[in-house]
This record gives sequence, structure tokens and C-alpha cells, in this order.
Amino acid sequence: MEFNVGLYSEKINILTNERLSRYSYLHCGGEAEILAFPKNNEELALLVKEAKRTSTPITVLGGTTNTLISDKKIEGLVISTKNLKGITIMGSLLVAHAGEKLDNVIDKAIEHNLKGLEKLGGIPGTVGGAVFGNAGANGISAGDFCFYVDYLNKDGDIRRMPHYSDTFSYRKSLFTQDDVVIRAAFRLIPSLNTKESKLEKENYQKIRVETGQFKYPSLGCFFKNPEGESAGKILDELGAKGMRVGGAMVSEFNANVLINTGNATSQDFYELSQQLIDLVKEKKGIDLEYEIRLLGEF
Ligand SMILES: Cc1cc2nc3c(=O)[nH]c(=O)nc-3n(C[C@H](O)[C@H](O)[C@H](O)COP(=O)(O)OP(=O)(O)OC[C@H]3O[C@@H](n4cnc5c(N)ncnc54)[C@H](O)[C@@H]3O)c2cc1C
Repeated sequence: MEFNVGLYSEKINILTNERLSRYSYLHCGGEAEILAFPKNNEELALLVKEAKRTSTPITVLGGTTNTLISDKKIEGLVISTKNLKGITIMGSLLVAHAGEKLDNVIDKAIEHNLKGLEKLGGIPGTVGGAVFGNAGANGISAGDFCFYVDYLNKDGDIRRMPHYSDTFSYRKSLFTQDDVVIRAAFRLIPSLNTKESKLEKENYQKIRVETGQFKYPSLGCFFKNPEGESAGKILDELGAKGMRVGGAMVSEFNANVLINTGNATSQDFYELSQQLIDLVKEKKGIDLEYEIRLLGEF
């Protein structure tokens, strides 16, 4: 591998053949050939440009709360955004860097008398992940409030994506796996009722804790809801709760959530999810689609 960021190799935290299970929210996954933790946009752009020069494939990881990382080696460059932090507020515009936790962004907004994002309270993961997958809950999505998103295209050039009518859709955005989200600007609503917004956000967070969402490592909902249906309800009716492969099990709280009971591999999760897809196809004739991202080979 001739990947070389020159003088920056001393500055940028770059590891080779590093086990991704150490960084994975689900505690599983194989090695990354190259794993980099850029601290700022300059380092990020340098990594992307070097990857282009050497035709090295790039994968971006945020909080990994929506990503099933293969147990097999992830070839090329894996960029973790965990050190890309920073929030600025100008009037009703809040600009957050990709590695900021979405939950921190909501807290910061409330602190500065800005409301809008409260219903997303408690969704784990980063701004980059929330924008890429248009994370949503309780009838709203991150994209609803995005005014623009700055990103690096595959050539390492900065681009700005405004909020067009088709930029965001159900758990999807126009960003591709070749783009790296740098920061997102959320246009929020000025409100002096900070106390009420704080309470509302904490309530949504509390519901997540009370419904057992954080009891075991998981990726939240594994499958998208089929049009007009609930994937969790269908799976529950088919008796999926408690089904397991190795250490991966369908949660007793929500049949659309697969949990790591302790020693699951990513392959366990994949095989269990395939069993669920087959079950729903056979009994209901419905094709379940993954909501989570599959990274690498399965
Ligand atoms: C307990 C629990 C509850 C959850 N509840 C919800 C919920 O209510 N609603 C919901 O929508 N989701 C939910 N999720 C799923 C997940 O938290 C969200 O989808 C979250 O937004 C993912 O963010 P992340 O940073 O962890 O993304 P990751 O898993 O790291 O990445 C997800 C995808 O985004 C891409 N990506 C990440 N950062 C960038 C970037 N900077 N630039 C380009 N691409 C990037 C990755 O390449 C990958 O394809 C839940 C998960 C858990 C574990």
C-alpha cells in the first residue's frame, strides 16, 4: 500500500490493521487496513486526496450506531470522524461538525434558545451519520432542519449541498459512500421557553431508556418499515422475538432490534437478519430492506 500523507503522517493519527470491534458500538467487526482519526478539515481533505491519488477505497465511520462492520478485513482507508468536533451558532443557524454527537447538538441548541430537534432526543450517533441516513424519530427527521451540508466529494473538494426538495427522504440522503460530510447547518426556531424544550427532549430520551433501547448493544431498528406497515410489528406477529444466531438475538423489547448478548460476531447478526428476511418473505410476501448499513463482505 503506497498510501502516504507525507509530513502529515506524524500529525494525523493513523493506525494499520486495527480491529474495528474496539470502536464499534455493537462491539464487533474485523480489521481496518488503514484507520485514520483526522482532527480537522485540513487533515480530512489530505486523507481523501491521498486516497484518490492511490485509488484507495474510503469508508467513513461516525458513531457506528447504524453500521454492521464485517468480521472480514475492511480494505482501504477507514476514516473515523470522532475527532471532528465543533458547534457554532449564528442567530437561528446552528452549524455542527460531523463528529459531534447529535444529542449534544440538541442540548446546545436548547441552551441557546433554539428549538426544533427535541424529538430526536436520545438517538445515538453523530451529526454526519444522522445527515447521511436522515435519522428520524417521532415524526421528524434530521434533514427537516438541515439548511445546508458541507461535504468533501471523492476528489477531496469541498462542496455545499443546499436543502433541495429531494436532498432527504426516508432514512436516506443524496450523499453517496464517496462523500464525506464535514458539517451540517441546522435552521432552528428561536424560543425563550428553554425549560419546556429541555423537558421535552429529556422525555423522549427517557422513553428510550425505559423501553430498554440501551440495555444491550444494538443498531436500533435493523429494517426499514415497509410502506404503511411496521417491520417490528410484522416480526413480532411472526414470533421473531428471542430468535438467535450465536450471540446475536432478536430483542424481547422490539422485534426490529437485534442485540449483542455478549459475544456476537457480525456474521451472527448477518445470518440472523437473513433468517428474518426469509421468514417475512415466506409468511407475508414482503421484502424487508435493511435500515442499517452493511460494511464490508458478508
Ligand atoms: C439504541 C439505538 C436507537 C436508535 N434509534 C434511532 C432512531 O430513533 N431513528 C433513527 O433514524 N436511527 C436510530 N438509530 C440508528 C443510528 O443511531 C442513527 O442512524 C444515527 O444517525 C447513525 O449515526 P452514526 O454516527 O452512528 O452513523 P454510522 O453508523 O457511523 O454511519 C452510518 C452511515 O453514515 C455514513 N456516515 C457517517 N458519518 C459520515 C460522514 N461524516 N460523512 C459521510 N458519511 C457518513 C457511514 O458511512 C454509514 O454509511 C438508533 C441506534 C441505536 C443503537
